[in-house]
Amino acid sequence: MLPLAVLEEVQAEFVDYRGHGMSIVEMSHRSASYGSVHRGAVDLVRELFHVPEGFDVVFIQGGATMQFGMLAMNLLTDGLKGAYVDTGAWASKALDDGSHHGDVYAAWSGRDLGYARVPDSGELTIRENTRYLHITSNETIGGVQFTNWPDVPVPLVADMSSDLMSRPIPWDRFDVVYGGVQKNLAPAGVALVVIRRSILEHTRHDLAAYFRYDVHATSDSMHNTPPVFPIYVMEKVLRWIRDQGGLPAMKEAAEIRSGLIYQIIDESGGFYVSPVESASRSKMNVVFRIADHALEPHFVAEAAANGMPGLKGHRSVGGCRASVYNAMPQAGVEALCEFMADFQHNAG
Ligand code: PMP
Repeated sequence: MLPLAVLEEVQAEFVDYRGHGMSIVEMSHRSASYGSVHRGAVDLVRELFHVPEGFDVVFIQGGATMQFGMLAMNLLTDGLKGAYVDTGAWASKALDDGSHHGDVYAAWSGRDLGYARVPDSGELTIRENTRYLHITSNETIGGVQFTNWPDVPVPLVADMSSDLMSRPIPWDRFDVVYGGVQKNLAPAGVALVVIRRSILEHTRHDLAAYFRYDVHATSDSMHNTPPVFPIYVMEKVLRWIRDQGGLPAMKEAAEIRSGLIYQIIDESGGFYVSPVESASRSKMNVVFRIADHALEPHFVAEAAANGMPGLKGHRSVGGCRASVYNAMPQAGVEALCEFMADFQHNAG
Protein backbone atom coordinates (compact mmCIF):
# COMPACT_ATOMS: atom_id res chain seq x y z
CA MET A 1 0.00 0.00 0.00
CA LEU A 2 0.95 3.62 -0.46
CA PRO A 3 0.26 6.38 2.07
CA LEU A 4 -3.32 7.61 1.71
CA ALA A 5 -2.16 11.22 2.01
CA VAL A 6 0.04 10.70 -1.06
CA LEU A 7 -2.75 9.15 -3.12
CA GLU A 8 -5.01 12.05 -2.22
CA GLU A 9 -2.37 14.60 -3.17
CA VAL A 10 -1.85 12.85 -6.51
CA GLN A 11 -5.59 12.84 -7.09
CA ALA A 12 -5.94 16.53 -6.25
CA GLU A 13 -3.25 17.70 -8.66
CA PHE A 14 -3.49 15.03 -11.34
CA VAL A 15 -5.54 16.83 -13.95
CA ASP A 16 -4.04 20.30 -13.57
CA TYR A 17 -0.54 20.13 -12.12
CA ARG A 18 -0.06 23.24 -9.98
CA GLY A 19 -1.87 25.59 -12.34
CA HIS A 20 0.00 24.54 -15.50
CA GLY A 21 -3.22 23.56 -17.22
CA MET A 22 -2.03 20.01 -17.81
CA SER A 23 -1.10 16.89 -15.90
CA ILE A 24 2.47 16.08 -14.90
CA VAL A 25 2.16 12.98 -17.10
CA GLU A 26 1.39 15.17 -20.11
CA MET A 27 4.41 17.43 -19.74
CA SER A 28 7.77 17.01 -21.41
CA HIS A 29 10.22 15.16 -19.23
CA ARG A 30 12.57 18.08 -20.01
CA SER A 31 10.13 20.58 -18.51
CA ALA A 32 11.12 22.58 -15.44
CA SER A 33 8.22 21.08 -13.47
CA TYR A 34 9.18 17.48 -14.12
CA GLY A 35 12.88 18.31 -13.69
CA SER A 36 12.32 19.48 -10.17
CA VAL A 37 10.26 16.37 -9.33
CA HIS A 38 12.99 14.14 -10.77
CA ARG A 39 15.84 15.88 -8.94
CA GLY A 40 13.71 16.03 -5.81
CA ALA A 41 13.24 12.27 -5.86
CA VAL A 42 16.98 11.66 -6.31
CA ASP A 43 17.86 14.12 -3.54
CA LEU A 44 15.36 12.58 -1.13
CA VAL A 45 16.68 9.07 -1.79
CA ARG A 46 20.17 10.38 -1.03
CA GLU A 47 19.10 12.21 2.09
CA LEU A 48 16.84 9.55 3.62
CA PHE A 49 18.85 6.46 2.63
CA HIS A 50 22.10 8.26 3.63
CA VAL A 51 23.60 7.44 0.24
CA PRO A 52 27.27 8.50 0.37
CA GLU A 53 28.72 10.98 -2.11
CA GLY A 54 30.56 8.25 -4.03
CA PHE A 55 27.33 6.57 -5.21
CA ASP A 56 24.94 7.42 -8.03
CA VAL A 57 21.17 7.13 -7.64
CA VAL A 58 19.47 6.10 -10.87
CA PHE A 59 16.01 5.11 -12.05
CA ILE A 60 15.79 2.35 -14.65
CA GLN A 61 12.69 0.84 -16.23
CA GLY A 62 12.23 -2.90 -16.43
CA GLY A 63 11.81 -3.49 -12.69
CA ALA A 64 14.03 -5.54 -10.44
CA THR A 65 13.79 -8.36 -12.95
CA MET A 66 15.77 -6.45 -15.52
CA GLN A 67 18.43 -5.78 -12.89
CA PHE A 68 18.93 -9.55 -12.52
CA GLY A 69 20.35 -9.51 -16.04
CA MET A 70 21.85 -6.04 -16.13
CA LEU A 71 23.91 -6.66 -13.06
CA ALA A 72 25.70 -9.68 -14.50
CA MET A 73 26.00 -7.99 -17.91
CA ASN A 74 27.68 -4.94 -16.41
CA LEU A 75 29.79 -6.37 -13.62
CA LEU A 76 30.90 -9.82 -14.76
CA THR A 77 33.72 -8.69 -17.02
CA ASP A 78 37.09 -10.37 -17.61
CA GLY A 79 36.00 -13.82 -16.44
CA LEU A 80 34.95 -12.61 -12.99
CA LYS A 81 32.31 -14.67 -11.20
CA GLY A 82 29.07 -13.71 -9.50
CA ALA A 83 28.25 -15.42 -6.19
CA TYR A 84 24.62 -15.66 -5.10
CA VAL A 85 23.02 -16.50 -1.78
CA ASP A 86 20.05 -18.69 -2.66
CA THR A 87 17.51 -17.73 -0.03
CA GLY A 88 14.41 -18.50 -2.06
CA ALA A 89 12.32 -17.73 -5.13
CA TRP A 90 13.72 -14.30 -5.92
CA ALA A 91 17.35 -15.15 -5.24
CA SER A 92 17.02 -18.18 -7.52
CA LYS A 93 15.62 -16.00 -10.28
CA ALA A 94 18.49 -13.53 -9.92
CA LEU A 95 20.99 -16.38 -10.13
CA ASP A 96 19.28 -17.96 -13.09
CA ASP A 97 19.07 -14.71 -15.06
CA GLY A 98 22.67 -13.88 -14.18
CA SER A 99 23.76 -17.24 -15.56
CA HIS A 100 22.85 -16.08 -19.09
CA HIS A 101 25.38 -13.26 -18.87
CA GLY A 102 28.26 -14.54 -16.80
CA ASP A 103 29.81 -17.22 -14.65
CA VAL A 104 27.63 -17.43 -11.56
CA TYR A 105 27.31 -19.85 -8.65
CA ALA A 106 25.44 -20.32 -5.39
CA ALA A 107 27.64 -19.41 -2.44
CA TRP A 108 25.02 -21.06 -0.25
CA SER A 109 21.57 -22.50 -0.77
CA GLY A 110 18.71 -22.82 1.67
CA ARG A 111 16.76 -25.06 -0.68
CA ASP A 112 17.33 -28.24 1.34
CA LEU A 113 16.30 -26.41 4.50
CA GLY A 114 12.99 -25.41 2.95
CA TYR A 115 14.32 -21.86 2.77
CA ALA A 116 13.66 -21.49 6.48
CA ARG A 117 16.52 -19.10 7.17
CA VAL A 118 19.32 -16.96 5.80
CA PRO A 119 22.92 -18.16 6.29
CA ASP A 120 25.60 -16.90 8.64
CA SER A 121 28.66 -15.42 6.95
CA GLY A 122 30.70 -18.49 7.92
CA GLU A 123 28.47 -20.73 5.81
CA LEU A 124 29.18 -18.87 2.57
CA THR A 125 31.63 -20.29 0.06
CA ILE A 126 33.28 -17.54 -1.97
CA ARG A 127 35.40 -18.76 -4.88
CA GLU A 128 38.41 -17.04 -6.36
CA ASN A 129 37.82 -14.21 -8.83
CA THR A 130 34.40 -13.46 -7.44
CA ARG A 131 33.23 -9.96 -8.36
CA TYR A 132 30.28 -9.71 -5.94
CA LEU A 133 28.07 -11.56 -3.54
CA HIS A 134 24.42 -11.06 -4.48
CA ILE A 135 21.86 -11.21 -1.72
CA THR A 136 18.10 -10.82 -1.69
CA SER A 137 17.75 -8.76 1.45
CA ASN A 138 14.13 -9.82 1.88
CA GLU A 139 12.47 -12.78 0.21
CA THR A 140 9.00 -11.50 -0.54
CA ILE A 141 7.47 -14.93 -1.07
CA GLY A 142 9.32 -17.00 1.54
CA GLY A 143 9.40 -14.32 4.23
CA VAL A 144 13.10 -14.59 5.16
CA GLN A 145 15.15 -11.45 5.62
CA PHE A 146 18.77 -10.61 6.34
CA THR A 147 19.20 -8.72 9.58
CA ASN A 148 22.99 -9.10 9.75
CA TRP A 149 24.65 -8.34 6.45
CA PRO A 150 27.11 -10.97 5.21
CA ASP A 151 30.69 -10.24 6.14
CA VAL A 152 32.68 -11.41 3.12
CA PRO A 153 35.85 -10.31 1.30
CA VAL A 154 33.93 -9.24 -1.82
CA PRO A 155 31.46 -6.36 -2.37
CA LEU A 156 27.79 -7.01 -1.73
CA VAL A 157 25.05 -6.47 -4.27
CA ALA A 158 21.53 -6.46 -2.88
CA ASP A 159 18.09 -6.88 -4.35
CA MET A 160 16.11 -4.86 -1.81
CA SER A 161 12.84 -4.81 -3.76
CA SER A 162 10.64 -5.70 -0.84
CA ASP A 163 12.44 -3.92 1.98
CA LEU A 164 13.70 -0.91 0.10
CA MET A 165 14.08 2.09 2.39
CA SER A 166 12.68 0.27 5.38
CA ARG A 167 15.98 0.53 7.28
CA PRO A 168 19.44 2.10 6.94
CA ILE A 169 22.25 -0.01 5.44
CA PRO A 170 26.06 0.03 5.76
CA TRP A 171 27.01 1.44 2.36
CA ASP A 172 30.71 0.66 2.73
CA ARG A 173 29.94 -3.03 2.06
CA PHE A 174 27.84 -2.50 -1.07
CA ASP A 175 28.63 -1.88 -4.72
CA VAL A 176 25.05 -1.96 -6.02
CA VAL A 177 21.67 -1.85 -4.30
CA TYR A 178 18.56 -2.16 -6.42
CA GLY A 179 14.87 -2.79 -6.15
CA GLY A 180 11.56 -2.43 -7.88
CA VAL A 181 9.82 0.50 -6.19
CA GLN A 182 6.35 -0.99 -6.14
CA LYS A 183 6.34 -2.33 -2.59
CA ASN A 184 7.55 0.53 -0.45
CA LEU A 185 7.90 3.60 -2.63
CA ALA A 186 5.68 4.00 -5.68
CA PRO A 187 3.52 2.32 -8.32
CA ALA A 188 5.34 -0.19 -10.55
CA GLY A 189 7.33 1.01 -13.53
CA VAL A 190 10.84 1.68 -12.36
CA ALA A 191 13.71 0.24 -10.37
CA LEU A 192 15.74 2.33 -7.97
CA VAL A 193 19.41 1.48 -8.45
CA VAL A 194 22.22 2.87 -6.31
CA ILE A 195 25.68 2.25 -7.73
CA ARG A 196 29.17 2.90 -6.39
CA ARG A 197 30.50 5.44 -8.86
CA SER A 198 34.05 4.13 -8.98
CA ILE A 199 32.91 0.80 -10.45
CA LEU A 200 31.44 2.48 -13.53
CA GLU A 201 34.88 2.68 -15.13
CA HIS A 202 34.98 -1.11 -15.08
CA THR A 203 31.41 -1.96 -16.05
CA ARG A 204 30.80 -3.03 -19.62
CA HIS A 205 30.47 -0.24 -22.13
CA ASP A 206 29.95 -2.42 -25.20
CA LEU A 207 26.26 -2.99 -24.47
CA ALA A 208 23.15 -1.41 -25.96
CA ALA A 209 22.89 1.96 -24.23
CA TYR A 210 19.91 1.18 -22.04
CA PHE A 211 21.70 -1.79 -20.46
CA ARG A 212 24.73 0.26 -19.41
CA TYR A 213 24.90 1.45 -15.83
CA ASP A 214 27.32 4.22 -16.76
CA VAL A 215 24.87 5.63 -19.34
CA HIS A 216 22.09 5.91 -16.75
CA ALA A 217 24.43 7.42 -14.18
CA THR A 218 26.01 10.04 -16.43
CA SER A 219 22.66 11.10 -17.92
CA ASP A 220 20.96 11.49 -14.52
CA SER A 221 18.46 8.78 -15.57
CA MET A 222 17.41 10.91 -18.54
CA HIS A 223 19.04 8.93 -21.34
CA ASN A 224 15.54 8.34 -22.63
CA THR A 225 12.09 9.28 -21.38
CA PRO A 226 11.94 8.31 -17.73
CA PRO A 227 8.79 6.73 -16.26
CA VAL A 228 7.40 10.02 -15.04
CA PHE A 229 4.41 8.77 -13.09
CA PRO A 230 6.11 6.36 -10.66
CA ILE A 231 8.96 8.81 -10.10
CA TYR A 232 6.46 11.58 -9.43
CA VAL A 233 4.61 9.45 -6.88
CA MET A 234 7.89 8.26 -5.36
CA GLU A 235 8.96 11.83 -4.70
CA LYS A 236 5.80 12.31 -2.65
CA VAL A 237 6.20 9.00 -0.81
CA LEU A 238 9.78 9.96 0.06
CA ARG A 239 8.55 13.24 1.51
CA TRP A 240 6.01 11.26 3.50
CA ILE A 241 8.81 9.01 4.81
CA ARG A 242 10.79 12.09 5.81
CA ASP A 243 7.78 13.51 7.65
CA GLN A 244 7.38 10.24 9.54
CA GLY A 245 10.97 10.47 10.81
CA GLY A 246 12.91 8.86 7.97
CA LEU A 247 14.37 5.37 7.89
CA PRO A 248 14.84 4.98 11.65
CA ALA A 249 11.07 5.51 12.00
CA MET A 250 10.35 3.08 9.12
CA LYS A 251 12.57 0.47 10.78
CA GLU A 252 10.95 0.84 14.17
CA ALA A 253 7.43 0.75 12.73
CA ALA A 254 8.27 -2.40 10.74
CA GLU A 255 9.61 -4.12 13.86
CA ILE A 256 6.48 -3.27 15.81
CA ARG A 257 4.05 -4.29 13.05
CA SER A 258 5.70 -7.61 12.26
CA GLY A 259 6.36 -8.29 15.94
CA LEU A 260 2.64 -8.05 16.72
CA ILE A 261 1.79 -10.65 14.08
CA TYR A 262 4.63 -13.03 15.01
CA GLN A 263 3.49 -12.80 18.60
CA ILE A 264 -0.01 -13.96 17.66
CA ILE A 265 1.55 -16.83 15.69
CA ASP A 266 3.96 -17.86 18.46
CA GLU A 267 1.33 -17.65 21.18
CA SER A 268 -1.31 -19.56 19.24
CA GLY A 269 -0.27 -22.91 20.71
CA GLY A 270 0.53 -24.29 17.26
CA PHE A 271 -2.67 -23.14 15.56
CA TYR A 272 -0.66 -20.70 13.42
CA VAL A 273 2.82 -21.77 12.35
CA SER A 274 5.74 -19.73 11.02
CA PRO A 275 7.90 -21.72 8.57
CA VAL A 276 10.80 -19.31 9.14
CA GLU A 277 13.39 -19.52 11.94
CA SER A 278 12.91 -16.59 14.26
CA ALA A 279 16.23 -14.81 13.56
CA SER A 280 15.48 -14.77 9.82
CA ARG A 281 11.86 -13.68 9.94
CA SER A 282 10.90 -10.89 7.59
CA LYS A 283 9.61 -7.61 8.95
CA MET A 284 7.88 -6.86 5.65
CA ASN A 285 6.27 -10.16 4.62
CA VAL A 286 4.98 -12.25 7.50
CA VAL A 287 4.50 -15.73 6.07
CA PHE A 288 2.52 -18.27 8.08
CA ARG A 289 0.46 -21.42 7.83
CA ILE A 290 -2.54 -22.62 9.72
CA ALA A 291 -1.54 -26.03 11.07
CA ASP A 292 -4.80 -27.41 9.69
CA HIS A 293 -4.19 -26.33 6.10
CA ALA A 294 -7.83 -26.94 5.20
CA LEU A 295 -8.74 -23.84 7.22
CA GLU A 296 -6.56 -21.53 5.15
CA PRO A 297 -9.05 -20.78 2.35
CA HIS A 298 -11.65 -19.88 5.00
CA PHE A 299 -9.15 -17.68 6.79
CA VAL A 300 -8.27 -15.83 3.60
CA ALA A 301 -11.91 -15.41 2.54
CA GLU A 302 -13.12 -14.27 5.96
CA ALA A 303 -10.25 -11.83 6.28
CA ALA A 304 -11.15 -10.36 2.88
CA ALA A 305 -14.79 -10.08 3.95
CA ASN A 306 -13.53 -8.13 6.97
CA GLY A 307 -11.68 -5.60 4.84
CA MET A 308 -8.32 -7.38 4.81
CA PRO A 309 -7.77 -8.72 1.31
CA GLY A 310 -4.52 -10.15 0.01
CA LEU A 311 -3.64 -12.53 2.85
CA LYS A 312 -3.27 -15.53 0.57
CA GLY A 313 0.32 -16.75 0.33
CA HIS A 314 2.09 -16.65 -3.02
CA ARG A 315 0.69 -19.27 -5.38
CA SER A 316 4.05 -21.08 -5.46
CA VAL A 317 4.12 -21.78 -1.69
CA GLY A 318 0.50 -21.55 -0.54
CA GLY A 319 -0.39 -20.70 3.06
CA CYS A 320 -0.86 -17.13 4.20
CA ARG A 321 1.16 -13.96 4.00
CA ALA A 322 0.66 -10.55 5.55
CA SER A 323 2.66 -7.99 3.61
CA VAL A 324 3.20 -5.05 5.89
CA TYR A 325 5.12 -2.46 3.91
CA ASN A 326 6.16 1.02 4.99
CA ALA A 327 2.77 2.64 4.52
CA MET A 328 0.82 0.06 6.53
CA PRO A 329 -0.47 1.76 9.68
CA GLN A 330 -0.10 -0.07 12.96
CA ALA A 331 -3.90 0.02 13.29
CA GLY A 332 -4.13 -2.16 10.18
CA VAL A 333 -1.92 -4.76 11.80
CA GLU A 334 -3.80 -4.57 15.08
CA ALA A 335 -7.02 -5.27 13.17
CA LEU A 336 -5.38 -8.30 11.58
CA CYS A 337 -4.14 -9.58 14.94
CA GLU A 338 -7.59 -9.27 16.41
CA PHE A 339 -9.02 -11.11 13.42
CA MET A 340 -6.41 -13.89 13.77
CA ALA A 341 -7.22 -14.35 17.46
CA ASP A 342 -10.97 -14.43 16.74
CA PHE A 343 -10.54 -16.85 13.87
CA GLN A 344 -8.59 -19.24 16.09
CA HIS A 345 -11.15 -18.90 18.86
CA ASN A 346 -14.03 -19.63 16.50
CA ALA A 347 -12.23 -22.60 14.95
CA GLY A 348 -11.54 -24.18 18.34
N1 PMP B 1 12.95 -9.26 -6.26
C1 PMP B 1 12.08 -9.33 -5.25
C2 PMP B 1 12.61 -9.58 -3.87
C3 PMP B 1 10.72 -9.14 -5.48
O1 PMP B 1 9.84 -9.19 -4.49
C4 PMP B 1 10.28 -8.89 -6.80
C5 PMP B 1 8.83 -8.63 -7.14
N2 PMP B 1 7.90 -9.04 -6.27
C6 PMP B 1 11.23 -8.86 -7.82
C7 PMP B 1 12.55 -9.03 -7.52
C8 PMP B 1 10.83 -8.60 -9.24
O2 PMP B 1 10.50 -7.27 -9.33
P1 PMP B 1 9.87 -6.63 -10.65
O3 PMP B 1 8.48 -7.11 -10.71
O4 PMP B 1 10.01 -5.16 -10.37
O5 PMP B 1 10.69 -7.07 -11.80
